[in-house]
Order: sequence, then structure tokens, then C-alpha cells
Amino acid sequence: MITSRKMKVPFVDLARQYAALREEIDAALQSVLKGGQFILGENVRLFEEEFSSYCGARFAVGVGSGTEALHLALLACGIGSGDEVITVPNTAVATVAAISLVGACPVFVDVDPRTFTMDPDKIEEKISPRTRAILPVHLYGQAADLGPILSLADRYSLLVIEDACQAHGATYGSKRVGTFGQVGCFSFYPTKNLGAYGDSGMVLTDNLEIAERVRLLCNYGQSDRYHAVAEGLNSRLDELQAAVLRVKLRYLDRWNALRRQWADLYSSLLEGVEVPFLASGREHIFHLYVVKSKARNRLAAYLEEQGVPALVHYPIPVHLQVAYQHLGYREGDFPVSEACAQEVLSLPIFPEMREEEVAYVADLIRKFYQEEI
Ligand SMILES: *Cc1c(COP(=O)(O)O)cnc(C)c1O
Repeated sequence: MITSRKMKVPFVDLARQYAALREEIDAALQSVLKGGQFILGENVRLFEEEFSSYCGARFAVGVGSGTEALHLALLACGIGSGDEVITVPNTAVATVAAISLVGACPVFVDVDPRTFTMDPDKIEEKISPRTRAILPVHLYGQAADLGPILSLADRYSLLVIEDACQAHGATYGSKRVGTFGQVGCFSFYPTKNLGAYGDSGMVLTDNLEIAERVRLLCNYGQSDRYHAVAEGLNSRLDELQAAVLRVKLRYLDRWNALRRQWADLYSSLLEGVEVPFLASGREHIFHLYVVKSKARNRLAAYLEEQGVPALVHYPIPVHLQVAYQHLGYREGDFPVSEACAQEVLSLPIFPEMREEEVAYVADLIRKFYQEEI
């Protein structure tokens, strides 16, 4: 059915979510405001407990953002100048920024053409005597192929630090991501599946020493007030954000299920584009619903014209970003990531979407391909 009605579909709509949770959120914020404790209080402590137990990790430390979760994880693992960290070019630039922030060298491997996550077959050739860690990204809400990554890491005595900033609640086998490597890093940027009303992030680990180290480093390196025992920074999760996140965590599974429902509907309705590949044994939580098309730019322009914003995650692979030219990579080095940059398109997806909105977007895409022929 091709509809002639024109509709505006937002890419995400956080106002719809707030409208549904307004009483709970307002009460949580009010209670922080009335209590007068804004940094390192009860909400942060409880959210750390609740999120670590939700994911299945022993320890959690709230920090200022996802980027800083990665940065602090690398610092706490003692990774720095002279070290190499293996990651992917098909990711948010923040993944790679964290590696260079500690003075280590990012080393890229290409991604798998079906899942767009780290291709485990391409890792071994990049391992050198300087390699300290592998940093896979659970992209768009789907886990990277952790099995072979973990066994390689084990064989070469490397750490695994997971970038789970897009994958709150996603699973690999029977466990949630962020609990497989030595450290798991999360972002609560407002549009993530679990999002605050500002920046914040979290580090998960089963290793007490790493947890204590992150806790020290994120709070000026002070072991107690005015005793600096390490060169730290200030990167804390604050009470207002933690209070919001505690409310929202209770809805995360429901929201992820709704995202999957919209993704299934898209995949059943779409024609002409390549729909997301679902790797078996991994529960995708669809932070983004990403299709592939050779006519990506024309399709995106057409959707835009019809009131549907569609975004590209990511238009420039990190090895080709201006900021990383000094690494010496060239076009052609990572063909799968480079093809992704040309062909991927993220369609609107969020839990509060309506069926008619998904159907409208799918109709437009079918119409685009009919007109193309
Ligand atoms: C969002 C994101 C980050 C950075 O998180 P911030 O909270 O914005 O700093 C890092 N990696 C990936 C894959 C992300 O999606």
C-alpha cells in the first residue's frame, strides 16, 4: 500500500518518552534538588549497583561520558604511550579518541560485511609486540563477535575493552555485553537506548583493582579528600543524571523489545535495500536501524524531502578523518568500512514510534525504488 499522505517522522523523539514518564522523572529530580547532594551521592551509588546487576558485572563506576568511560578504562589498565590498541575504523570517532587520549596508538582492523562489527579473522595479522588490548565496538546495538576475539586475546595475553556505548542490554550468547572483556564501557548520551538528560557514562568490570583505579582517576586521583595519589581528572556521573537513569533503567528491556518490534516490521516491509543482518545467538537491541543501499545519497535526499530524516552512521571511517591522518592510513586500506560509509543509512527508530510511522517510511522507500526503475 502506497500512501499519498505526507507525514513528519522524527529520527528520535525524546519528548514522547518524557511525556510518558513525566511524573516519575520529575519526582526523581525533585528529590535530588531537595536533598542538596549533587555529586557522588545515593543515586549514583544505587544506579551503579542497579546497572551492574542488570548487566551482570561485579563492579560499576559512573563517569562523565562514554568517551571518558573508554579513556578511564584504558588509563586504569595502564595503557599509554608506546602501546597499541586494536579497534575498528567503522565507529564513532570517540572510540578512537579515547585511545589517542592516553597516548596509545589505535591500530585498525576492518569490519565484517554483514554485521559491520570487528572482523575476527583480520585481527591476528595486526597483533604486534606493542599490542596491549583489543577494543571491539558493539555497533548499532548488536554485539561484535566476542567468542573469537576473546580467544585471540587469551592466546596473546591481551586485554579486551568493550565499547558498549550503543548496546545497553544487548546479548552475546547468554550474557549481556560489557561483561565479557576486562572492562565494558557505556555512554548515557540522551539518544542512547538508556539515555540521561545530558552527558554521562559508566565503566563495568569484574576486576576490583580496575574498578578502584577508575574510581580514583575519575575523581582528581584523590584517595580521600585532598590526598592525590594519582594524576587524575574530573569525570563523574552526577546525581541528577543518575536519578533519571534509575527511573529509565526500569524501562530498558521494554524499550529494547519495542525497538526490536519496529526493526522486525521495517525488515518485513522494506524492499530494495539490504536490511540489518541478525547474527545468531546475539540479541540486537537496535540502537540504530541501519540499511544498505547503493543509491544511499539519493534515497536519503528523497526521504528528507518527504519529511523523514535519515542519518549516516558513519559518513567518514575514522582512518580517513582529518584528525587521524598522522596514523598514515589511506583510502582503500579498509574496503568494508569504506563501503559502509558510502552505503549505510539509519532510519528513524525509537521505542515510542508508531506503527503508521514505520509503515510510512517503508512505503516511501518502496516508492523510491519503483520510481528508480
Ligand atoms: C556514543 C558513543 C561513544 C561516546 O559516548 P559519549 O557519551 O558521547 O562520550 C563512544 N562509542 C560509541 C560507539 C558511541 O556510540
